[in-house]
Amino acid sequence: MQQPNEKDKLVAERQAMIRTQLKKRDITDPAVLKAMADVPRENFTPNEYLDQVYYDGPLSIGYGQTISQPYIVALMTQELKIDKNCDVLEIGTGSGYQTAIIAKLAKEVFTIERIEPLSLKAQQTLKELNITNVKFLIGDGTCGWHENKKFDRIIITAAAARMPKPLLDQLKIGGIAVVPLGAEYLQELVTIEKTDSGLKTKSVCGCRFVRLIGKFGYPE
Ligand code: SAH
Repeated sequence: MQQPNEKDKLVAERQAMIRTQLKKRDITDPAVLKAMADVPRENFTPNEYLDQVYYDGPLSIGYGQTISQPYIVALMTQELKIDKNCDVLEIGTGSGYQTAIIAKLAKEVFTIERIEPLSLKAQQTLKELNITNVKFLIGDGTCGWHENKKFDRIIITAAAARMPKPLLDQLKIGGIAVVPLGAEYLQELVTIEKTDSGLKTKSVCGCRFVRLIGKFGYPE
């Protein structure tokens, strides 16, 4: 448990993160900035990193996985253009931090994680924060959500060589996906808009994510 003055310190650090890492870059969407202000990143990071919670980069969450850099979380969320009518599919729950940010903006989040203990921990963290519009699934997210369902938005928080076909099929016409695509150690963050006349892709920036492992991703 954090001491009262520790809590104040973390709130101040979160405010500083929003000023220096987000607003000074290109995060301008007020709803995204509010979600980033409302979700305590300290609840999603291991206790040994309490002094680095608002560090401008990813942190280890165990099992060879990371909680993403706050800026990347905000940027991917901003690119998704989420509103309260959106059902969002997320592949790679990890710590649940990105899940929580999206849940603040969307109607419902459907999130898949292949590493069971990470999903269980994320489920507990979101419960503690009273975030209830999230459905969790443990398994291979490259195969899509298990029910025959279409999504307004899809976010993949692990890197693939290409967009897995089952996920593209589960994106609605008019929907947007944000995904890191490219080689194993360096990727391009890409947005894919599904229109009546096909796919419109846009490159956002360079990025580096852990591997998307599964049937339509990298082998184990
Ligand atoms: N957004 C998360 C990032 C976690 S790292 C956070 O900020 O905490 C990416 C996650 O994707 C890892 O937890 C990894 O286990 C998971 N992952 C990789 N391949 C997957 C797959 N095929 N299905 C579901 N999850 C996958």
